[in-house]
Amino acid sequence: MKHNFNAGPSILPKEVFEEASRAILNFNDTGLSILEIGHRTPLFESVLNESVALMKELMGLDANKEVLFLHGGASTQFFQVPMNFLSKEKKAAYLDCGVWGTKAYKEAAQFGRVEVVASSKDKNYSYIPSGYAIPEDATYFHYTTNNTIEGTQMHHIPDTSVPLVADMSSDILSCSMDFNKFTFIYAGAQKNIGAAGVNIVIVDKKFLQSANSGLPSMLDYRQHVENGSMLNTPPVFAIYVCMLTLRWLKKLGGIQAIERLNNEKANLLYTTIEELPVFHLPVAKENRSKMNAVFTMHDAELEKVFLSRCKEEGMVGLSGHRSVGGFRVSMYNALPLSSVVAITELMKDFSNKYGS
Ligand code: PMP
Repeated sequence: MKHNFNAGPSILPKEVFEEASRAILNFNDTGLSILEIGHRTPLFESVLNESVALMKELMGLDANKEVLFLHGGASTQFFQVPMNFLSKEKKAAYLDCGVWGTKAYKEAAQFGRVEVVASSKDKNYSYIPSGYAIPEDATYFHYTTNNTIEGTQMHHIPDTSVPLVADMSSDILSCSMDFNKFTFIYAGAQKNIGAAGVNIVIVDKKFLQSANSGLPSMLDYRQHVENGSMLNTPPVFAIYVCMLTLRWLKKLGGIQAIERLNNEKANLLYTTIEELPVFHLPVAKENRSKMNAVFTMHDAELEKVFLSRCKEEGMVGLSGHRSVGGFRVSMYNALPLSSVVAITELMKDFSNKYGS
């Protein structure tokens, strides 16, 4: 058995894999594969409609929100958001907390003025800045709720009247929060929602009215809304996998139920690491991510030994991102507690053997 700690694409529930495999051969007893049905058929329309409805239900979205399933990954949103809502006369505020947030504001600077209100670059993005001011005249304030690479997570929603835009790619649906406080949310599906190849966008209808016109159709949110995410052929299979994963989450008890499990996993991992002297946690305690735990070892030589022990135990996806080094344990929704138990046991053994 593998323990899959991949940062994304990452582990999905086993029952989703099983159901998706069946649908590749025979979708809903139609005698057709999910890969060969037209997207403008009632068969697929019901998949898309159910996916949208489940997103709204699980997140408790109000009637002012539109949910879209789009192509292009979260990286497309880095420029599509400012392309739709910024201009050379307008300003957007950004929080710079890591690789993805940096990419986002650099793309935005091509479309309008960008003010980086705070950055944690000074300490290799190992914390989330606080005490910064968000300029009242900003068109929106953008931040990344969970910094996948650096292992930090914002555990509160900033208190501001400026429209909030959030990249939730790596922690969406993992913990409860008032999602209606956000004007715009985007997330690549490949961590907590489903398969790679689709992007979830949640946008406030009123905010949408302020969007720029004259944009290429495929980059114009209003056209996507008018066409119900069917402006062109949507990523049919990726959306289908999202629907299955959302059904799984609903059956489990929704976000509150998964949040309890996610808290349990993160607590177990962090408290174990804190007690083991061979390991080091670089991230500020109050900003630790419950999705991606980053750690290093005091003795860099031992890192290779630890990694090969993990491999022997069937643990995959543990190498830290090249910009951070060390290790990263990704604990997305579908990761069972037993995988975290397995790695913490291994860490304790390892520390007993090599810790002095
Ligand atoms: N934002 C965050 C927080 C991410 O973790 C990632 C990918 N891991 C991205 C954006 C980019 O996503 P994509 O590869 O779907 O463009």
